[in-house]
Amino acid sequence: MNVPVPNNLEAFWMPFTANRQFKKAPRLLASASGMYYTTVDGRKLLDAAAGLWCVNAGHGRREIVEAVAAQVGELDYAPAFQMGHPKAFELAARLTSMMPKPLDHVFFTNSGSESVETALKIAVAYQRARGKGTKTRLIGRERGYHGVNFGGISVGGIPTNRKFFGSLLTGVDHMRHTHDIERNAYSRGQPEYGAEFADELERIIYLHDASNIAAVIVEPMAGSTGVLVPPKGYLERLREICTKHDILLIFDEVITGFGRLGAPFAVDYFGVVPDIVTTAKGITNGVIPMGGVFCSSDIYDAFMTGPEHAIELFHGYTYSAHPVACAASMATLDIYASEGLLNRGPELAQYFEDALHSLKGLPHVIDIRNIGLVGAIELQPIDGEPTKRAFAAFLSAYEKGVMMRTTGDIIALSPPLIVSKAEIDLLVSVIADVLKALP
Ligand code: PLP
Repeated sequence: MNVPVPNNLEAFWMPFTANRQFKKAPRLLASASGMYYTTVDGRKLLDAAAGLWCVNAGHGRREIVEAVAAQVGELDYAPAFQMGHPKAFELAARLTSMMPKPLDHVFFTNSGSESVETALKIAVAYQRARGKGTKTRLIGRERGYHGVNFGGISVGGIPTNRKFFGSLLTGVDHMRHTHDIERNAYSRGQPEYGAEFADELERIIYLHDASNIAAVIVEPMAGSTGVLVPPKGYLERLREICTKHDILLIFDEVITGFGRLGAPFAVDYFGVVPDIVTTAKGITNGVIPMGGVFCSSDIYDAFMTGPEHAIELFHGYTYSAHPVACAASMATLDIYASEGLLNRGPELAQYFEDALHSLKGLPHVIDIRNIGLVGAIELQPIDGEPTKRAFAAFLSAYEKGVMMRTTGDIIALSPPLIVSKAEIDLLVSVIADVLKALP
């Protein structure tokens, strides 16, 4: 079935998109089911990106659709401030039961970016709540992506996301990123070398003094800047240093949460427990916007003081714990549990890894890396024209029936967790054809 292309494409200013290129040759999706999108001209596209790292249970899941429809009919909206509804509490209890102790509380947001802002604000306010009001400085990392709001771009480490927006948050420092292609190219799973990059945190703490630092925020695996897998021992070392200096550690699990690494959360995969975990995306399978910020009981308890009628945290969104998002999330968690999707690592990760690494040696490939159900193929950039080669690969894959994601000159793959071995084979063979034909 063909769906008409709207005749005005100009009005919509598209996010993170080459608007002029897109509008000359639009790539419009009409429907989706399982592992596939269908374009407006009726072509099937294998979804190798889980939408945008969020559709972990695959598309068009009937149970979620029905839960959303029923919820809209029953309770369309409930005010989020000084009022509640049962599903918000049920969902919070269920989500926190999936997290290791002491991450016993969750604050609801509507996106990954809002989860990050919430986490940073809670971190700073927590330090003040416990009488350490000088601890305000935040430490991020180069090549970190923490969404697009001012806090997130400030602690984030992507130059283009920072340079256009004037002065950012002050009092922020960055550790170096962990990507070390010279020593770690073609790593399978966690790279061998680079745990010592964590020691840079000691240097930054020495410079500012721990009494001025609130929190360190990192993605346990940096997704958006090209699947940068943490070297063995690196996250453990960050945890040790933060504990030693009484600094909060925040893991941004907006991508790694809900099964992407083959375990429910990166916290489980790496066995490292931070003080705050940010999530979004897979929390509702991408169906309704939602995010959640998990906090330790120490943090929560530090706010639960003062007169009982007083608001403890001056923060929240009109749509925090929106009933429809809560219903979508509960149905999503049911699917994850009944189909074992959050633990597909042992079953599929090895197959995915072998398939991806079979692309070694094809034209322009300078690295392949993977962990769980996420992988990356890094290409040699065209001299003087960074990103152009990978974008050409993206367009060519689209023509050949695969929707993948590229960032810089890196192809990032993160299929829905329902992917089959046959679909992995198809994906890899299309990428092989794409690479062989690239300029
Ligand atoms: N944090 C991380 C680690 C992300 O990968 C993303 C999005 O990709 C975000 C935050 C921002 O999420 P959103 O686009 O939902 O605001």
